[in-house]
Amino acid sequence: MTDDHAAGGPGPALAAPVLAGRRVLLLDRARIYVCGITPYDVTHLGHAATFVWVDALGRVLRLLGVEPEVCRNVTDVDDVLDEAASRARARYDSFAAIQQYHFEHDLAALNVRPVRHEPRAHRYVTHVIRLARGLMTAGTAYERNGSIYFRGQAAAIHAGLGRAEALRLSAEYGGRLDDASKDDPLDAAVWQAAEAGHPAWESPWGLGRPGWHAECVAMAMSAFGVGVDVHAGGNDLRFPHHAYHSAMAEAFTGVRPYARAWVHVGTVTVDGVKMAKSAGNLVLVSDLLNRYPAAAVRLVILDRRWAEDWDYTDASLEAAAARLADLYEAAGRPPRRARRPRARSAACWPPTWTYRPPSRWPSGKAAPRHACSSRLSAWTNYRTWICVCRQRGHQRVGGPDA
Ligand code: ZN
Repeated sequence: MTDDHAAGGPGPALAAPVLAGRRVLLLDRARIYVCGITPYDVTHLGHAATFVWVDALGRVLRLLGVEPEVCRNVTDVDDVLDEAASRARARYDSFAAIQQYHFEHDLAALNVRPVRHEPRAHRYVTHVIRLARGLMTAGTAYERNGSIYFRGQAAAIHAGLGRAEALRLSAEYGGRLDDASKDDPLDAAVWQAAEAGHPAWESPWGLGRPGWHAECVAMAMSAFGVGVDVHAGGNDLRFPHHAYHSAMAEAFTGVRPYARAWVHVGTVTVDGVKMAKSAGNLVLVSDLLNRYPAAAVRLVILDRRWAEDWDYTDASLEAAAARLADLYEAAGRPPRRARRPRARSAACWPPTWTYRPPSRWPSGKAAPRHACSSRLSAWTNYRTWICVCRQRGHQRVGGPDA
């Protein structure tokens, strides 16, 4: 990103950052939507890179006199999450709340500032139903067997993809090409008819659940209205997720473009392979923070253009830590150390956000008292309570959502 202040003359400078080649004039705030996590697993460096970049963007905008208003969603209604929760014999939402808790702890340790909006998909089901109705009215969606499908062919063309490549990417990201109810394999479910093993809600078309792209549209529109200044996410979300998101939003509102600028953060690989649990090459943020200061981890992420794909090595982080030490020395400041060693040795660690040990759950029932009750930690966000003791493995979730 570069900035361009108005030259000469008194008065406030013009905030006009150039993002992904596009100049975005900003007055006093920037609406930034970033696709957040699907909370079914631990935070790895690939996730963290996106959120550290968005945090850096917010800090630069603030220096330009623009308040960044960030919305980072949580995709807690998702087929992959349902499978992970089922393996853990947990409800999808309780399971997601615990994963989100760990995720936010890692981001706070990386000095990523809290965001203004953090919507969770399961609370936006009615919004998705309204969205589906609107898309049907606009003639871009249709109903088949209790599901609502968005016509996706135009989104693929707009993304500049040939049909074969669009189909390949759709299949890779859960597009269900073999769904016989669709008019076209590129069509995507805005609303998916109920299936065993997945949560379901009432809708005008029977029981079902929201589709992935539609969830993000509903959450972004609820936070920011018809459009955003910046939409950010990992590079792998370009298609189909972001292409369908903008196509649905534009079809619903008639306002184009939905996003003034896109920030697609480069993919992090290990030995050339994208970081993924299935590849067995995850580099966990919590492990890195036990060995290096957060500033070194941020530096290894930010020491490049945001869109650049890069390969992580221990040596690259070592080099970032050495460079950080040089910078501190040049600034006359003492070097920083990794700041989380206690996280592994203490029975529990208190969260850095709202800390409110409950004596009762909102239902009125007495809250559980653990063996480590003196350190019972509680977290509240969107009315869900959670207490976690990492070392002893206690995890309990309460509240209206549980
Ligand atoms: Zn999204």
